[in-house]
Amino acid sequence: MKIRTIQTGSTLVSNAVPNRATHRFTYAYTGLFQRRSKRIEVPVKCFYVTVGTHHILVDAGWSKIVRTRPLKHLGFGLWYASEPVMAEGEAACEQLAGQPIDAILMTHLDCDHISGLHDFNNIDTYTSAEEIAYARQKRVRYGKLTRGLTFHTINFTSDNDAPFGKSADLFGDATVFAYLTPTHSAGSVIYKIVDGNKFALIVGDNGYMQDSWLQGLLPGPLYNADNMRKCLAWIKGQSLNPDCLGIFCAHDTRMLNI
Ligand SMILES: [Zn+2]
Repeated sequence: MKIRTIQTGSTLVSNAVPNRATHRFTYAYTGLFQRRSKRIEVPVKCFYVTVGTHHILVDAGWSKIVRTRPLKHLGFGLWYASEPVMAEGEAACEQLAGQPIDAILMTHLDCDHISGLHDFNNIDTYTSAEEIAYARQKRVRYGKLTRGLTFHTINFTSDNDAPFGKSADLFGDATVFAYLTPTHSAGSVIYKIVDGNKFALIVGDNGYMQDSWLQGLLPGPLYNADNMRKCLAWIKGQSLNPDCLGIFCAHDTRMLNI
């Protein structure tokens, strides 16, 4: 397997986004009542995976549209909470120009993960049915970015080894497994990429960055805090497995490539 980290710029957010313990106010991650000059800049990443016969993009990062029309693209609320920063050539569609992409797998549907989907056409894109339902319900968090996009839903089955009892062998050839993780959002998904005995995990915002699972730091936006704690402990356990080649987080400062 090969996994290449693609950084699609960054986002200016409250420091409560990666670590909710920095503030007491539950919704501090929105940046409300905080000075914009105190925002921190965190990278926005997606991952290009080659495994077996598959060429896959996991998440899509920011669209190239955010360079010119960020407010129109995101709407004021999402723009206010997570202002995009992206230089010329940094969008996933630009960095992967000419590379094959057979499928796009979404860890969840927050704006900094699905924005880049608007730069791709006719590529099968997967998410969980739980995430689609949650995005419909939580309009403030998800905004209008899912409009015009179509998704295949992942067919989960019961699995006692999965962190929350549900997994899917996405292509039926044991190269990519999806785990449902109701943590950061109701339908968040972790992808396990498998090559022989070796594996890597792409965890999205389950583990916003390496310190999240090393130190058990909870991110700002949460669907279920207890589930998130359980999930971070599970990821840490997986990282200690000698066959684990890497844990890929969407907002880590490390540029991990394997
Ligand atoms: Zn994110």
